[in-house]
Amino acid sequence: MEENGIKEGQREELSELSTIDNHPADMATEVYDKERGYALFENEKNILAKIDAALKNIEDGTYGICEVCGGEIEKDRLEAIPYVSTCKNV
Ligand SMILES: [Zn+2]
Repeated sequence: MEENGIKEGQREELSELSTIDNHPADMATEVYDKERGYALFENEKNILAKIDAALKNIEDGTYGICEVCGGEIEKDRLEAIPYVSTCKNV
């Protein structure tokens, strides 16, 4: 019983605190941060997918081959972006 009483008290305290914290300005900042984080995450996912594809190409022996024209991707381009999948002409 006593344990329950403590938990109830803490819950009340917490909900009171979160009401005070939820100023409209804070909410906006939070949403902005979430959207920015999401965009970053999407970008990372893109790069990871490209790196995965490049690793697969290394296994297949097609690494450095442009996926659009089938030509060789320039060496300096591959050095700059190792996971690039197209040549400069694309
Ligand atoms: Zn090409």
